[in-house]
Amino acid sequence: MSEDKLENKDLKKVGLKVTLPRLKILGILENAEQRHISAEDVYKKLLESGDDVGLATVYRVLTQFEAAGLVIRHRFDTGHAIFELNEGNHHDHLVCVKCATVAEFVDKIIEERQIAIADKFGFKITEHCLYLYGVCNSCQEQTS
Ligand SMILES: [Zn+2]
Ligand SMILES: [Zn+2]
Repeated sequence: MSEDKLENKDLKKVGLKVTLPRLKILGILENAEQRHISAEDVYKKLLESGDDVGLATVYRVLTQFEAAGLVIRHRFDTGHAIFELNEGNHHDHLVCVKCATVAEFVDKIIEERQIAIADKFGFKITEHCLYLYGVCNSCQEQTS
């Protein structure tokens, strides 16, 4: 694995000791074609590449990553918790209720409106999650 050095740095930067399961799971999050991934899918990818890491370990490591700010955990209504690397750029999500496909968006006007609304109530926003649920394009085509 030629990316080991980079990944080591990422783990150490957030104060986590470098262990093999942590490295492997971080590698999957960094290289997976889907940015939003469940613990089960991380586990399946480990199995596919012949790595002997149990599902309980995957959950534990992802929880440690979340606590360290390395990943964001989403609790979409579609079931399983979904994880994505925290790259520091805020965005919101569209979630397909049929196939659980996730799309990302940022809308300047929505962001500004939220701040204005919070302002009206004397709130300072510390964070927000906006999830739009619906049926994605390819799922719409399948049912018609
Ligand atoms: Zn869909
Ligand atoms: Zn996202």
